[in-house]
Amino acid sequence: MEKILIIEDEKKISDIVKTYLEREGFTVAVAPTGREAFKLIKDRFDLIILDLKLPDIDGEEICSTIRKASDVPIIMLTAKSSEEERVKGLGMGADDYVVKPFSPRELIARVKAHLRRTKKGERKSLSFNEGALKIDTSAMEVRKRDKAVPLTTSEFRILLGLAERPNIVFSREQLVNIVQGYDFEGYDRVIDAHIKNLRHKIEDDTQKPMFIKTVYGAGYKFIGVQD
Ligand code: CA
Repeated sequence: MEKILIIEDEKKISDIVKTYLEREGFTVAVAPTGREAFKLIKDRFDLIILDLKLPDIDGEEICSTIRKASDVPIIMLTAKSSEEERVKGLGMGADDYVVKPFSPRELIARVKAHLRRTKKGERKSLSFNEGALKIDTSAMEVRKRDKAVPLTTSEFRILLGLAERPNIVFSREQLVNIVQGYDFEGYDRVIDAHIKNLRHKIEDDTQKPMFIKTVYGAGYKFIGVQD
């Protein structure tokens, strides 16, 4: 059974989300504070739902701390409606966000989409540019010149989605779909933020990418040469 951690101080919200998740067969733990979350997190969770505004520790700080140790999918709950703030949250390594007030059903749909993505896939190893970039699909590991590159789940999905079909242009909307398994309006800048992070991790020169090329007005394509 998959385990989900809800980090949220508003009991009304955590109760509703917990009820919905349990109804779907998930095991759910709730942490009402950041400190409590850090205690619980020593257990393994399959997904974390994280409220950005907590009484003790900033949600963004919790997010980056979790990310240092684990690539567990993180969905942020945020009251911040400005796109700037959301993109910042994703920069901290969250995979997705939901703006309050949200419908529990929508949240559950996203939880399932993220879990499906994590579980899916047989073992496959892809290698590009004479071994300069290697992708292990089931271990979700990427190596740049045999050095492990830590990627978030979303970054990994985008890279794999592109690399599996080299030289095909993907629009930002298609990439959103690859990341989340459903369409999401107004997500362009989030994809751009993920691509920017990815390039810093896998490219030698982000101005002259060897792997992910911008196709102006259209999207992105993978230009690595498979070995
Ligand atoms: Ca809160």
